Formats: sequence, C-alpha cells, structure tokens
Amino acid sequence: MALWNALRKRCPRCLKGKLFASFLRMHRRCPECGLPFTPAPGYYIGALYPNYAITIALTTAVYWLAVFGMGLDQRTALWGVLLFLMFFPVLFYSNARSLWLTMMYHIRTTQFEEAEAELNSTGKPSP
Ligand SMILES: [Zn+2]
Repeated sequence: MALWNALRKRCPRCLKGKLFASFLRMHRRCPECGLPFTPAPGYYIGALYPNYAITIALTTAVYWLAVFGMGLDQRTALWGVLLFLMFFPVLFYSNARSLWLTMMYHIRTTQFEEAEAELNSTGKPSP
C-alpha cells in the first residue's frame, strides 16, 4: 500500500495530498494535512539511491530483453540502453523523491513531526 501510494506521489501521512505542484516542483507542505515534505536541508539527496537502483535494474532488464529476447545485436541494444540511461532518471526523478519520502516517513516519523512543530511555531523551516 505504501509503495503504491509512493508511486502515485501522495503524502505518506494522509495519503491524499499531492507531493508535486508540477512535474518537477514539489509542495513545501502537504496541501491536505500540512506535513512538511522537506524536514531537513538536502533531504532529497538520498532520493538518488532509489533512482539509481531502479535505473540500473531496468537498464539491465531492457538490455537482456533486447539482446536475448528480441535478438538485437549487442551494439544496437547498447545504444538503446544508453539512450534509456540519459532520459529515464530525469523522468523518474519525481517518483524517486516520492519513494524516498515515503520510505523515510515510515522509518523516521519523529523527524517529520519535529519539522512540523518547528514550522508551526516559527513559520519557517529549520536551517
Ligand atoms: Zn498529507
């Protein structure tokens, strides 16, 4: 359920609020429940991990399918995979952030609650 919710790019607490206002621009807080989406500066550097892992897994699968499933020569498959590598991480960027946020919310809910308390008391996120 949490994984499905992350792929839908919804708030991990209320499951309703959208994480993104546009393709690459993320809301600062959940529009439904007010959960801060960035509890600490640089928080989404960790989103590189799911993005990298899923990109490599898919690239490997696409290459093997092209070469062994479809019978393409290795050079053609390699160029196809390189093209895939150039665009997929960018297209998957928002999903990777959503996966990271959902995973970290379920692991360290207190970090989000502290950031929310800080935001509610000062109106500004902690530095
Ligand atoms: Zn919410």
